[in-house]
Amino acid sequence: MRLSLLGSTGSIGTQALEVAEQLNRTGTFPVEIAVLAARSNVQLLEQQARRFSPQAVALFDPAAARDFRQRTRDLDITVLEGPEGLCEAAAWEGADTTLNAVVGMVGLRPTMAAIKAKKTLALANKETLVAGGSLVIEAARQNGVKILPVDSEHSAIFQCLQGSPGERAVKRLILTASGGPFFGWEKERLQAVTPKQALCHPNWDMGAKITIDCATLMNKGLEFIEAMRLFCVTADEVEVVIHRQSIIHSMVEFRDGAVLAQMGTPDMRLPIRYALTYPERMQSELPGLDLLACPPLTFAPPDLEAFPCLKMAMECARIGGTSCAVLNGANEAAVELFRREEIAFGRIPELVERALDAIPVVSAPGMEDILEADRQARACVRRAAGS
Ligand code: NDP
Ligand code: MG
Repeated sequence: MRLSLLGSTGSIGTQALEVAEQLNRTGTFPVEIAVLAARSNVQLLEQQARRFSPQAVALFDPAAARDFRQRTRDLDITVLEGPEGLCEAAAWEGADTTLNAVVGMVGLRPTMAAIKAKKTLALANKETLVAGGSLVIEAARQNGVKILPVDSEHSAIFQCLQGSPGERAVKRLILTASGGPFFGWEKERLQAVTPKQALCHPNWDMGAKITIDCATLMNKGLEFIEAMRLFCVTADEVEVVIHRQSIIHSMVEFRDGAVLAQMGTPDMRLPIRYALTYPERMQSELPGLDLLACPPLTFAPPDLEAFPCLKMAMECARIGGTSCAVLNGANEAAVELFRREEIAFGRIPELVERALDAIPVVSAPGMEDILEADRQARACVRRAAGS
């Protein structure tokens, strides 16, 4: 496999490189790193470039690209830059598979570029599927492109669906959620949560934005919409269950009443590895699941009052059109403000709700409608926060 890895300096990106190295060590499934891309972390990208010798790198930030060229004059490497560079990286001729692991809506254009270039698409960047929705899925269908989910819940569902006789056999998708660091907290207590508290996730070590999303349960809301898109089901066919131990990564209930679950220790390297080696399963060095050492597995309904982000996402899933792009754009802007300590934790859902109330929904949107909804949502949040 020849891989273009977007977001190589992030949590998913660095773990993908670990997986690639491990697959190369065992020699059964060689992974050539053709392209690496990031926003501005030149130092780590340089280390990665020296280690994996890609044909090209892309840096979204042009100043970082200049810095990279200076540092690597001894290397024979193409350095791309800006949003265009990221799209070129996604569609790179020397790669057959693109793993999109950048964070946020900025991943939408590279996702579309990879699809148009008919690359197999391993997708971690869920914001793209939420905002771009049916456009992404439709483009993939038209170009005969496979989208392989990297998000652990969707990878779990995808794995449970292998060998299924078809979509009509599925009754329900059951998404599990850890509940985040504030499970069981009341709404009032959540108001004063600090970024430091929200950045501590009990089971997973992830990038900052998704960690905050896990704390508000917006992550599960985005995943709810992501599941509908990826597996062509309605909102009524997706259920969210809190499962604190993150051992069951999600489940599929079939028409005949059988429920299949995918289980394992919480480690993103497994879904990343499955997306890369699909449909094969390769020998892994990851520690196995010791059921006898597992805590008891528990299940509970989500508290939609204390965590209104999940509720709003479920509503947007039903409304459709540009509402999911507004939800996502408003959330990205609000999370950014919270991380900069410009707004309180409790204002994240409040600002998202305000954007959803203020911005009219366009049904059956085109790409421009989606980008415009995203812009309006961000502007609305910033205005309301006074920043
Ligand atoms: P991180 O914040 O750890 O990494 C983000 C990566 O994207 C970095 O490489 C960053 O580069 C790059 N990036 C950010 N903005 C741009 C840009 N404008 N242009 C190019 N590259 C950019 O995020 P995660 O790895 O945690 O998450 C990545 C995606 O995967 C998200 O969509 C997330 O929801 C999803 N995901 C993550 C999981 C996890 O366990 N981490 C689990 C499931 C899904 P730089 O370092 O230079 O800023
Ligand atoms: Mg997930």
